[in-house]
Amino acid sequence: MTVPSGVWEERWHPLREEWIIVAAHRQNRPWIGQTIATTPLRDPVYDPTCYLCPGNARVSGNQNPSYAGVYVFDNDHPCVGPLAPDPVIPPWPNRVQRADGIARVICFSPAHNQTLAEMSADAIADVVQVWQQQTFDLGRRPEVNHVLCFENKGAVVGVSNPHPHGQVYATNFVFKTMETECFAAQKFWHEQHRVLMREIIVAEQQDSRRILYEDEHTIAFVPYFARYAYEVYVVPKRTVAHLYALNSIEAQSLACAISAVTIRYDNLWQMSFPYVMAVHQAPTDGSQVPFFHAFLAFHPPLRRPDLLKYLAGPEIGGGNFLSDTAPEATAAALQAVEPIHYRASEVQ
Ligand SMILES: [Zn+2]
Repeated sequence: MTVPSGVWEERWHPLREEWIIVAAHRQNRPWIGQTIATTPLRDPVYDPTCYLCPGNARVSGNQNPSYAGVYVFDNDHPCVGPLAPDPVIPPWPNRVQRADGIARVICFSPAHNQTLAEMSADAIADVVQVWQQQTFDLGRRPEVNHVLCFENKGAVVGVSNPHPHGQVYATNFVFKTMETECFAAQKFWHEQHRVLMREIIVAEQQDSRRILYEDEHTIAFVPYFARYAYEVYVVPKRTVAHLYALNSIEAQSLACAISAVTIRYDNLWQMSFPYVMAVHQAPTDGSQVPFFHAFLAFHPPLRRPDLLKYLAGPEIGGGNFLSDTAPEATAAALQAVEPIHYRASEVQ
């Protein structure tokens, strides 16, 4: 029997309080399955058929203004909203409530073909500022208990329109991930008298192998307990429960970190790198959460340029992730690429 090479162990995810199986010794096993075609052709800066481009009509009939920076509008197909009907009361133990809340779309840029990876840090800072404002404004509403800002990027995560945009869901419930993190951080606070994320930052700094970006106010790293191969956390160093508590210098630093991470993503395989990104913020229900440390999490679905991470038995059936790559190896791959976007010299 041969001794396996590569990381083969189970790592504890302290924010989720669950085990991750890291089975990197299996990485080279034969694979037969679906592949993802890369598209080297560049999209135009303006697409007359795009419902997000400036001046174009949306499916609702509303027309976008000729916006120049970040543009926010109410989602034409909201998953939650004030027009949701009163539900039918089901028999116990089932429960139901109105799908109340607000769903909005944030266009990051008027340029159809410019993702966060190709936007300047200043332009990304404008996006951060909108996340701050939207969280503050929507979080104050009595019917809103949580604000989730996120970006789905790429056809492989179900986004057919390449126009750079994210979404905001302001809901009457707290999304499960943040609820779980809130519970774990509160438990850690009571047991250790410390902020859990601050301890995670210190551990990453001590190890240092998985750090992709660091300045005075922000750090970005592939977490020790990453669930997805190229998962990255972008974390403000100061503990704030919501992004709007960051000052302008900290917000600018956060934008620089987002830029650095997304550039490395695109450069890794010279493609527009798909991911799901979520801003992890505390509930907005008025509860005091000094232990909650807001951050951004990028979850790329690809393991290789042409290979998706499929959620299967362990993840969907069992609820725990199985990772085929060591976080140290994927961090090293992201560290090894150029810090300037590979398309920076192309004519827009
Ligand atoms: Zn567009």
